Amino acid sequence: TPLLDVADCAVSYGKVSALRGVDLTVGEGEFVAVIGPNGAGKSTLCNTVSGFRDYTGSVRYHGAEVSDQSPRDLVQQGLVHCTESRDLFGYMSVEDNLTLGAYRANTNVDERLAFVYDLFPALAERTGQLARTMSGGEQQMLAIGRALMGDPDLLVLDEPTLGLAPVILDDISEGIEQIQANGVTILLAEQNVTFALRHADRIVLLENGDVVRRGSPEELREDD
Ligand code: ADP
Ligand code: ADP
Repeated sequence: TPLLDVADCAVSYGKVSALRGVDLTVGEGEFVAVIGPNGAGKSTLCNTVSGFRDYTGSVRYHGAEVSDQSPRDLVQQGLVHCTESRDLFGYMSVEDNLTLGAYRANTNVDERLAFVYDLFPALAERTGQLARTMSGGEQQMLAIGRALMGDPDLLVLDEPTLGLAPVILDDISEGIEQIQANGVTILLAEQNVTFALRHADRIVLLENGDVVRRGSPEELREDD
């Protein structure tokens, strides 16, 4: 069974239908990117998968229906969501922000910290710096780093490139490649198509809450 199995999933906000009958699977170790314009439903999908939205249809993580579990249960089972807003504690240090991400029982915090610092050397250089004094790109690394402190089986990354300079994007790209090489399954929501095509094994194009295209990066490139 796939690690994540979304079947005929619909979500609405009052009269606004944000997802309509979405089907999507993410296998163990796979990297799937959901692309689409602003308002397509990407964040809603990320929030739904992570247990924060009511839905119809089915969303299964490790075979168990997400609506039967709390977001807290899910994160403790390794479903970690790195949100678009990053959710950092601005008046806490890099290291304190990271340590707070160690949600799972029996986490060896020092070992995980070493892993994150190895992945993002920019963080290792400023362990005591307050999060809100860092650049957007460093904050994004910190948000991804904190998600990794949770030892994710499934990492849900919502728009990690948002507002970032190209130089920083390269650092984020390298970090993400190493995360994937470490066997972490990734569901990425992105407006930056180039970034999504570079990393993902499979692409799902969402428009107005509907999946309108799916395929490998090669197949989608041939289209346009
Ligand atoms: P994307 O992440 O692709 O930009 P969203 O999932 O944020 O798309 O939004 C999909 C649709 O749902 C949009 O029409 C958006 O305005 C609406 N929407 C998203 N979140 C909410 C919310 N909390 N309340 C009401 N409408 C929402
Ligand atoms: P995105 O850029 O991914 O569409 P937004 O910036 O629209 O995300 O959403 C930020 C937050 O506001 C999210 O929690 C989202 O659910 C909520 N939101 C988005 N659209 C609306 C809306 N039309 N009404 C109320 N809340 C919304």
